[in-house]
Amino acid sequence: MNLFIKREDLVDAELGGNKWRKLKYNLEAAVAQQHDTLLTFGGAYSNHIYATAAAGKRLGFRSIGIIRGEAHEPLNPTLEFARNCGMQLEYIDRASYRQKAQAEFIASLEKKFGRFYLVPEGGSNTLALKGCMEITQEINKESSEQFDFICSACGTGATLAGIISGLLPSQKALGFAVLKGGDFLVNDIKNFLEQVGTVSTQWSINADYHFGGYAKTTEELWGFIEQFKQNFDILLDGVYTGKMFYGLFDLIKKGYFPKGSRIVAIHTGGLQGNSGLVSKI
Ligand SMILES: *Cc1c(COP(=O)(O)O)cnc(C)c1O
Repeated sequence: MNLFIKREDLVDAELGGNKWRKLKYNLEAAVAQQHDTLLTFGGAYSNHIYATAAAGKRLGFRSIGIIRGEAHEPLNPTLEFARNCGMQLEYIDRASYRQKAQAEFIASLEKKFGRFYLVPEGGSNTLALKGCMEITQEINKESSEQFDFICSACGTGATLAGIISGLLPSQKALGFAVLKGGDFLVNDIKNFLEQVGTVSTQWSINADYHFGGYAKTTEELWGFIEQFKQNFDILLDGVYTGKMFYGLFDLIKKGYFPKGSRIVAIHTGGLQGNSGLVSKI
């Protein structure tokens, strides 16, 4: 058994992780379509809001973040960073937020803010898949190892769908759901794959390591994250990568992977989110 880690968290201090991969071709499209404004959606601790604000600042876009829920002052560290990057923050109630993909609602936003390039919540669209596919391609290009499994944490599943799209015929992708009831991901990922014309059955979702649900954590999870830091000098986040590595180590212990398997786990970043969680690290 060999475990490797693809360190997407080290790509850039502010604009790294999978959210950068998901944004990359969206930003290219926004430039090509001569947009000067990015508009997107997220929760108050969203890694995607953080990354979009950083990208907007670097590339000279005006950025607007539509935030679910009420405004709280002082801002939490995620939103403070976003505002410092120049992102305009607009808060909407949860009922309105649920309409975020509807044409009528988007038209009302255009009326209010003018023309913008719309990045969906989490950055999850077909251009995101194109960016995430490059993670797999890089893994296979940059290493002479033959990897059998590529693992990632899953929220919307767009990242894993991109990873799946880049697999070699001998490889499998394994996604760890961070939300409760994560089996919905199987359908969502099938839909994403269909949208980009990927036909693949070389993947599966494990929904057993959600720790109570999205952004829910336990003492045991934080203990694992602390131990991981001590053993490997690598920080994990409590929402995504901590749960994936916990699950991965548990599956290895239980003999899930065939003997001699070569596994790559993707560190998708997200460390900024730790500042918003009650943690001991
Ligand atoms: C958003 C995120 C994910 C999940 O990505 P999806 O494409 O929504 O499945 C995984 N890890 C981190 C750190 C993230 O921020």
